[in-house]
Amino acid sequence: MEVLQTNITYLKGVGPERAKLLEEELGIKTFNDLLHHFPFRYIDRTQFNTIAELPEIYQQPVQLKGVITGLNVSGNGRKKALKAVFKDATGSIELVWFKGIKWIMDSLKTNQVYEIYGKVQRYGGVWNMAHPEMEKAEARKITRQFQPVYHSTEKLTKKGLHSKGIEKLLQQLLIDVIGKIPESLSQEILATNKLLGINQAMKQIHLPEHLEEAKRARFRLKFEELFFLQLELLIRKNLRTKPEQGLPMPKVGEVFNTFYEYHLPFELTNAQKRVVKEVFQDMKRGIHMNRLIQGDVGSGKTLVALLNMLIAVGNGYQTALLAPTEILAQQHFETINAMLEPLNLKVALLTGSVKGKVRRLLFEALQNGEVHILIGTHAIIEPKVMFQNLGLAVIDEQHRFGVAQRASLWKKNSRPPHVLVMTATPIPRTLAMSFYGDLDVSVIDELPPGRKPINTVHYFEKSRIKVFAFMKEQIALGRQVYVVYPLIEESSVLDYQNLMSGFEAIQRAFPPPQFHVSIVHGKMKAEDKDFEMQRFVKGETHIMVATTVIEVGVNVPNASVMVIESAEKFGLSQLHQLRGRVGRGAEQSYCILMTGDKISKEGKRRLQTMVQTNDGFKIAEVDLEIRGPGDIMGTQQSGLLQLSIANLATDGPIISLARDAARKLLEIDERLTENKHFPLKHKLQSIIKNKPNWSKIS
Ligand code: ADP
Ligand code: MG
Repeated sequence: MEVLQTNITYLKGVGPERAKLLEEELGIKTFNDLLHHFPFRYIDRTQFNTIAELPEIYQQPVQLKGVITGLNVSGNGRKKALKAVFKDATGSIELVWFKGIKWIMDSLKTNQVYEIYGKVQRYGGVWNMAHPEMEKAEARKITRQFQPVYHSTEKLTKKGLHSKGIEKLLQQLLIDVIGKIPESLSQEILATNKLLGINQAMKQIHLPEHLEEAKRARFRLKFEELFFLQLELLIRKNLRTKPEQGLPMPKVGEVFNTFYEYHLPFELTNAQKRVVKEVFQDMKRGIHMNRLIQGDVGSGKTLVALLNMLIAVGNGYQTALLAPTEILAQQHFETINAMLEPLNLKVALLTGSVKGKVRRLLFEALQNGEVHILIGTHAIIEPKVMFQNLGLAVIDEQHRFGVAQRASLWKKNSRPPHVLVMTATPIPRTLAMSFYGDLDVSVIDELPPGRKPINTVHYFEKSRIKVFAFMKEQIALGRQVYVVYPLIEESSVLDYQNLMSGFEAIQRAFPPPQFHVSIVHGKMKAEDKDFEMQRFVKGETHIMVATTVIEVGVNVPNASVMVIESAEKFGLSQLHQLRGRVGRGAEQSYCILMTGDKISKEGKRRLQTMVQTNDGFKIAEVDLEIRGPGDIMGTQQSGLLQLSIANLATDGPIISLARDAARKLLEIDERLTENKHFPLKHKLQSIIKNKPNWSKIS
């Protein structure tokens, strides 16, 4: 057995009790697990701060060198504390202990030079440090300039396994295993990417001589982690893109040509043309397409999807378009139906509200192939919905759908239909590579001509009168206005009350007959929502008061003002989506972010970002910084990858390198059958065994 698989109990310094705690608290069971418990930072033991500097480095841990000039115990019982005066050449602070008082008092010596480490606080006009780490200056052999700092827990600390205790264990472990850790990357990969060998890397990450060494070690270990992730994703992709895996759609077809030549409502942007082609390239190659289209709100994804659906129809297949909400499905149905009017195709709508006989007839029409294009909600995924020959399924606003839902579409035909997913929630490229590593990505990076950037401002509640006056001005110019309230949870009574009282206030400020106000929210029946939506679309109402049910996809080009109430409660991507509901016509559009006076630091950052930029990719990057990648992908995907050292948000360049290396390897040895690649294959298999979640990414 490999030495690394040895149970941690057998490490010198770890008995059964500590072993149990290590497993419970940090999941460390074997030598290998402990080896992968990496330091999260290093302390430079040769750098000292001075007491005079403290006001500038408040709340950071500091390292000081000085003497203790006085000790005294104060208080009684639980309030008992030991205090010491600690001085360096620039001033003095107080050291405080609440525990182990007797022992510490006996061991401390006055007029002895100590090096102390800890966080300082200012309390009652005095700087103090509670429970400092301390050592006699001359007693400390400076064996290492950089001391690693490890995560620990309260329970572990009680058993002596604070950062320093863990450091000790690792020093012992390194003595036992260095030189025996099997290399998991091939010589070629190490050489091409200038990576440290695994033994060297492990030594340097735990015991660096200087920070440069630690950095190189981290690079190697991150690379390895990302490399195996990309390798797995690419292997799966290779399987999928084998010739004969996909439904053949060799020609553009008559349907597409007729529509494109005679009925296209506007000239496509270059980006739209390019993406339509990229998708068609996949469809005609005989491979199984699994492609993501990323395009900012308003970039015209619907039309791109439709054009590719027409190609599929021209090749004799049925197609489906899935939207996350009924409102959006309904809207897609209407616009597409209108555009295709002259083509004599059968377009149908399937949502939860299509019931009874209509539903039954629709199911029949799907099975006997009468319906060419089915538009709908999640309802389409249900197993009962069967097609005669589904060739292409498009998922709009895909981040609203789960991975499993997407996968179930594959079963709708004997050979899986091509899948096209679309999103306006821009995902930084390198993140897409990991979460959608198995997908090909097309980007619509251009907006239709004539769009003016939306003017975004932030107002506090006290400016409400001004905002209402502005809304009136815009309505007088013939425009329409959205006012959106947060309804974070559909069931939240408070949010709902806010919405209703907001609605009443607006009705009072905008009375009939001059003004008409609509309202749409999740508690309304589908047909009522639809009715109100239609009134707004037709321009019969001037203001649409709504919850985030209108967040995605809704398209009313005449609406030029988006007022977002309690904007501090929304996340960045939601704000960006909401803002994307305006700026769709030729008129100058506005987004007004209304907030109360109290806003968190993050909230402020979000609002500032919105005011500063309209660029969805920039917004996504800030979002990634604020929230971290797991959160961005939604709860369904978070924690999926369980990475131990790499960070998908910040390690973009390493992800690219790792992906290239994985791709090159598979080009030479697609199934990893060559002898020299056996260690790679072995390692990949053992990783996958430990990370069953990986199989859910696609
Ligand atoms: P999204 O990418 O956000 O889904 P849509 O598909 O809803 O965007 O398109 C936004 C608006 O832009 C729609 O009104 C659509 O008709 C219009 N549009 C799409 N493509 C073009 C184009 N090439 N030229 C002009 N307008 C376009
Ligand atoms: Mg859309």
